[in-house]
Amino acid sequence: MKFELTILGSSSATPIYNRHPTAQVLNLRERLLLIDCGEGTQMQLARYRVRAHRISHIFISHLHGDHYLGLMGLLSSLHLQGRTSELHLYGQQDLMDILEMQLRLSNTTLRYNLIFHAVRHYLGGVIFEDDHMQVKSIVMNHRIPCTGFLFREKPRPRKLLINRIRQHGIPIEYFNRIKHGEDYTDENGNVIANDELSVPPPAPKSYAFCSDTLYDDSVASEVQGVDVLYHEATFTSDMQERATTTYHSTARQAAQLAKKAQVGKLLIGHFSARYRELAPLLREAREVFPETELAIEGRRFGI
Ligand SMILES: [Zn+2]
Ligand SMILES: [Zn+2]
Repeated sequence: MKFELTILGSSSATPIYNRHPTAQVLNLRERLLLIDCGEGTQMQLARYRVRAHRISHIFISHLHGDHYLGLMGLLSSLHLQGRTSELHLYGQQDLMDILEMQLRLSNTTLRYNLIFHAVRHYLGGVIFEDDHMQVKSIVMNHRIPCTGFLFREKPRPRKLLINRIRQHGIPIEYFNRIKHGEDYTDENGNVIANDELSVPPPAPKSYAFCSDTLYDDSVASEVQGVDVLYHEATFTSDMQERATTTYHSTARQAAQLAKKAQVGKLLIGHFSARYRELAPLLREAREVFPETELAIEGRRFGI
């Protein structure tokens, strides 16, 4: 079952050196989720062969332009391409006010149902849940209201050992109960333990997206133990003062947070235009947290 992240943008503020503003696509069991939508996201989706019409949910962290200026263009193209399936959008209320104004002034009525879910940036907590996954918002510490997002798979049912099940002649109507951990009792009253008949499923995976933010201990507790953490790393630590005054993090701080939260892997992005080469940022993060990778355009990460 797929849980895969594709990076579409790694730049902070402006597009530069072939880097694009923030956007990522998460494929969670064949459901496509877009996280942030900086300018040029449509072109990046096409470049990396992600089918935009398959996106069902969009999550916008905050209203700095490098995180959402591609959104109206994408919504508009989906309309022109004849989309009819509903699209869920998560962000702060002001985002919908901006979109509604643009739609109204262009006299556009979208052909599909755009369902907006207002996220209260100061609250955190579950904002989406179904049988397969849960999404929580995380309170970020930025110049303007900003939320991170935590995506968690739900546990899957146990895997049946079909050969053993056949040997015991267990009827098909019991399969679902065995998948959910029940023992089997045959007509003579003999109990066959569940672990004779099934094995545990793989552990549910999780991915956290944290951008933009200062280093904040409260974020570490929110993302404790996730498999993959994306954390912004706008600067190297010689620029610590600038990072602090602009409410951003350094690569070292991103790594310190990953270490504290004991995550499986750290991805860093949202790089300042002052870095043509990204090696110094990666080196700095790896000194603290070796399992770090650059979240740059076109890279795909299995969660
Ligand atoms: Zn930003
Ligand atoms: Zn920002």
